[in-house]
Amino acid sequence: MTNSQLPISPMTFLSVNVGDIVRLRKPHPCGGYEWAVVRTGADIGLVCQTCKRRLLIPRDEFRKAVKTFVQRAPEPPPAPAAPADSA
Ligand SMILES: [Zn+2]
Repeated sequence: MTNSQLPISPMTFLSVNVGDIVRLRKPHPCGGYEWAVVRTGADIGLVCQTCKRRLLIPRDEFRKAVKTFVQRAPEPPPAPAAPADSA
């Protein structure tokens, strides 16, 4: 494990998942505030919910730009580690 990355603490930054709907502090030029998360990673991919334009911003910028989560993607089901032997 290296500690060379930016200190983004999970305690101060909610995890973001594909399918989340977020509201940003600044409106898009089209007037829309709400964005759907379509990609996560070092950069966060967003689609404006008003004009459907795509935007890719660094995770750190995203963290500062988000005002609130409008809708959280449903939690993925836990991995089937031990499939039920019901056959
Ligand atoms: Zn827009």
